[in-house]
Amino acid sequence: MPIATINPATGETVKEFAAHTPREIEEKIARAYEAFRSHRRTTFAERAEKMMRAAEILEAGKDSFARVMTVEMGKPIRSARDEAAKCAWVCRHYAENAEAFLSDEEIATTATRSFVRYQPLGVVLAVMPWNFPFWQVVRFAAPALMAGNVGLLKHASNVPQCALAVEDVFRRAGFERGEFQTLLIGSAEVSRVLEDARVAAATLTGSEPAGASVASVAGRLIKKTVLELGGSDPFIVMPSANLDEAVKTAVKARTINNGQSCVAAKRFIVHAEIYEEFARRFKEGIAALRVGDPLDEETEIGPLATAQIARDIEEQVRKTVAAGAREFRSPAKLPARGNYFAPAVLEDIPKNSPGYCEEFFGPVALLFRVGSIDEAIRIANDTPFGLGASAWTNDDGERDRFTSEIESGSVFINAMVASDPRLPFGGVKRSGYGRELSAFGIREFVNVKTVYVKDDETTRRAETE
Ligand code: NAP
Repeated sequence: MPIATINPATGETVKEFAAHTPREIEEKIARAYEAFRSHRRTTFAERAEKMMRAAEILEAGKDSFARVMTVEMGKPIRSARDEAAKCAWVCRHYAENAEAFLSDEEIATTATRSFVRYQPLGVVLAVMPWNFPFWQVVRFAAPALMAGNVGLLKHASNVPQCALAVEDVFRRAGFERGEFQTLLIGSAEVSRVLEDARVAAATLTGSEPAGASVASVAGRLIKKTVLELGGSDPFIVMPSANLDEAVKTAVKARTINNGQSCVAAKRFIVHAEIYEEFARRFKEGIAALRVGDPLDEETEIGPLATAQIARDIEEQVRKTVAAGAREFRSPAKLPARGNYFAPAVLEDIPKNSPGYCEEFFGPVALLFRVGSIDEAIRIANDTPFGLGASAWTNDDGERDRFTSEIESGSVFINAMVASDPRLPFGGVKRSGYGRELSAFGIREFVNVKTVYVKDDETTRRAETE
């Protein structure tokens, strides 16, 4: 894959970038390693001051950052602006809370004093996807830098300008050059970087094959990894739900970011009592979405990020329909050029078809009719993935069952799944492992060091007791 900006709305190659040479890669790793030695000794207050500045830069520049995102991967400009603002939020969150998350934790034992001290690991390689090209990076970088680690970013090859823009944000905020750097490299170079002894750990957000590849290299070298992979989140609607809210949220939860979100609701599991009503109103909502130029403020669905993604999802729909599913397509008129795709809804999806077993990374909703909560939970869990889940019910007993029995990293009741800096984010099963955000996220790339101190006085007292 070339490292290039190819506008998904036009197919035009806007800018190409030469991949770093082995020598340039070596220089960047060396600089990162050197930077870690001093960065780890800075105080939380010093780091927080820079992180607050990064938040200000992100907020002040959100219009121009949004344009970079939209031109590179096609998300509607309004949501790109929101993404830049959300990045400012996560920077502030860790600037304000990192010290508390990582302060020494006393644990009473027979020692005079025993406690846990959190210490940074070193250079962390972040392999990131294009779908939230600022957010995915900043939600890694803010806790990593606040913990005293330094970051090397290998961003997706189709968003190099986003990668360079994020690097520039941290530089302008006052972080030293080696503390956060972008590597313009293809995916084939990732293992070589990870194999370098100066790189301590890696985090990857992306597809299962990419995650498996990075985890296997890291496993061989006993290096820590966090993986945030695919998802096929269920969105369950029970008869007691507020149907107006459920339908409105369902449309948004499936089509946000042009349907290219790991935590998008992908499988709609609806109780038979309300299925027809839900399906009719949901399709009306999908049909009403404005599809078009992502730079237009009114657009709700832009083009898919690459021509290949559009082809892949069209193929998944075709195979599912060929297996017997019913298809509804938005009547939206699509622009002649670009990777546009009319949002779709599939019903009566046969088991073993792609619609039943695969992740659909685009605006295609998969509807399932169920007769009971047991069946809803069974279908919700009948997937290799376990990222998020949304369940709509006003029945306390049902809420309890969804909360306990759905196999996923999060369950949202009467709300759509969304990341929030204050809450842990991550998956189980083939959606990955480890957590980002909150106190859990910042503690992924630290040494949880046990300290046990016994002085003579304690020893004497123990002997006389
Ligand atoms: P992808 O192809 O796996 O790409 C993600 C990143 O991994 C890119 O930087 C890519 O580089 C790199 N990469 C690809 N193959 C690799 C390999 N064998 N070794 C090392 N690095 C490799 O994923 P995508 O298609 O861009 O993103 C969509 C997937 O990401 C979906 O499954 C989605 O659900 C998942 N996702 C998960 C989360 C989460 O938080 N759980 C968030 C967003 C997306 P190149 O671009 O150079 O190939």
